[in-house]
Amino acid sequence: MKAAILTGPGNLVVKEVGTPPCPDGGLLVKTRACSICTTDAKMYHQGQRDLAYPRILGHEFSGVVAESHTRDGAFEPGDRVQVAPGIGCGRCPACRRGADNRCPHIGIFGFNYDGGFAEFVTVPERSVLGGGVNQIPEGTSFEEAALAEPLASCLNGQQQAGITGGDTVLILGAGPTGLLHARLARLKGAARILIAERLANRLETAELAGAERIIDLNSESTAEVAKEESGGRGVDVILLACREAALKSLLELLAPGGRMCLFSGLPAESARVRLDANLIHYRELSITGAYGGTAAQNRAALELIASGRIDVSRLITRRLSLDEIGEGLEYTGRREGLKATIKF
Ligand SMILES: [Zn+2]
Ligand SMILES: [Zn+2]
Repeated sequence: MKAAILTGPGNLVVKEVGTPPCPDGGLLVKTRACSICTTDAKMYHQGQRDLAYPRILGHEFSGVVAESHTRDGAFEPGDRVQVAPGIGCGRCPACRRGADNRCPHIGIFGFNYDGGFAEFVTVPERSVLGGGVNQIPEGTSFEEAALAEPLASCLNGQQQAGITGGDTVLILGAGPTGLLHARLARLKGAARILIAERLANRLETAELAGAERIIDLNSESTAEVAKEESGGRGVDVILLACREAALKSLLELLAPGGRMCLFSGLPAESARVRLDANLIHYRELSITGAYGGTAAQNRAALELIASGRIDVSRLITRRLSLDEIGEGLEYTGRREGLKATIKF
């Protein structure tokens, strides 16, 4: 099969390798779509905490079952499937609580298991048993189904931040995840959504968020707009979907009872901050993290896409072949458009 192999930071080769055998109790999936994540671009350039080399990247994939060795015959060749990237152990306290994305023994496609930037992916039994493999409903395309993964991460972030009806939500970043966050927040009943962005091309597509207000960071101040749009009260929720953020001043924009979700990781130099503990105390603020999503959230995300409640079709702005993956990763890293997808 043809695969894109990363042997070290910046070293990516597309070449023929042996097609892996179908694992016992698992599946061999013929990849049909694998979207490129900002994390892939970052891993390609500089590596990542959970990444082991040599590796086939790609954790947002869907395809067709080519071979099935599942014990209960749950899947058959020809089934259209989308696969959640995280594979929990199923036995630890986190997995038992359904928080399999926090499993200390987690395996992740494209990080420590080979992922979707190859013509075939092997899906181990643990993924099948853990509910990580989902049938794609009819009418949903492979490229749309592959976006269940980023949407599941947003579901996780918003569950942590506890978005409820009537909330004013401030989203930092109008990239693909910022836009998904906006749509999801609306679905959860957010009354006002503000989305802030600096890049000109992403300001142009920010209307896809369906927000009440797009904040142009080149000419407007987030703090002033947040105050104005909330009648001076502050916003209820802040979702970080950007590469840079001044956490200390953002905290001051929260209304009493406000929640901030650190959805994106920050560069080391801006990650260490001093926060006013008394502000958190008196205003009863919460700060939460979010990293990936659970198998159940992945299932729910696919359902949201398939039912049309979250329309992801316009988020895909570039389609490439596996041979063009280098360009796809550069495109994603340059933040030129929204989502790029490798199609097979
Ligand atoms: Zn991703
Ligand atoms: Zn576990």
